[in-house]
Amino acid sequence: MIKAKFRDNGSECSTEDYAQNPDKYRGLIDCIECSQKAWFIKGFETEKMSRMACFGARHLDGCNASTVDLKSEATDENIDDPNSPGSSLYVNLDKSATSNIYVSQDNDKHGDEESTRPSPAIKNPLGNSSGYPLNKSLRGILTNLIRNPNYGENGLEIKIVSNGGRTIIDGKLKDNIVNIKHVSKDHMRQEYIFWGPINNLNIDKKGVLWLNYGDYRTEPSIRLNPELSQELIKNFRLKDVSELDGSDFIIVGHLGYSSAGKAIISTSFTKYISFRKMNISKINDHLKSSSKKEAVLFDN
Ligand SMILES: [Zn+2]
Repeated sequence: MIKAKFRDNGSECSTEDYAQNPDKYRGLIDCIECSQKAWFIKGFETEKMSRMACFGARHLDGCNASTVDLKSEATDENIDDPNSPGSSLYVNLDKSATSNIYVSQDNDKHGDEESTRPSPAIKNPLGNSSGYPLNKSLRGILTNLIRNPNYGENGLEIKIVSNGGRTIIDGKLKDNIVNIKHVSKDHMRQEYIFWGPINNLNIDKKGVLWLNYGDYRTEPSIRLNPELSQELIKNFRLKDVSELDGSDFIIVGHLGYSSAGKAIISTSFTKYISFRKMNISKINDHLKSSSKKEAVLFDN
């Protein structure tokens, strides 16, 4: 979609409005039709195609405003069968690999024609590997949670150890995992595995990176100090942190609250964080060198 609704006053926000004033709109725009949180996706150029800027959102079923298909990155790693008997997960954070993220080039393209073609529902089947692998990255756990938010309800145990062998988390997965939308002061006693969607990322004037669940003023955020922020940009090969807008994240960290009552999650190392970036397939787009109406823009 190329128009969104500014939550503060209900006014319309075009892709050009957003590009001219991202600080005004970031985290505060919704789908005009289904009111789900939206984020800005820059236009870009690759050798194969040219795409205009648009807004992404996790639209409700049946919302016609969707012009891009968003789906989580390819199912490249262990997807567990939630019905198989409970077993143990052992996460050695030293062995967690950073993921490759496709990087595109800005082209500052904006359009004024809205597509009306709805996106088909994408359903990813659950895999059915037999038994759980012993070593599992955070990203693998996130993949399982995205496929099945009740993953872990069957008594799965998890143990996470740090570099020096310190046990960070040890117990039932369901007792140690918190979806960001359910974050509360009950989660301040120990370190937890927080996960969920992030609407937008932004680096403030002090170099602190904020991963925002939504409205940065009131909704939960993850805070990374300038050092971790630079490391994350390097590890994930980002040109701009907004490339991760709309992704799902998982982080081993601890929760605090600001004096204004805002939930803030922190962590010590970038390897305690992983993402699944949304792949974007444009259904109806201005393609430079392809007559196809459908194209996968992110190849992993
Ligand atoms: Zn919508």
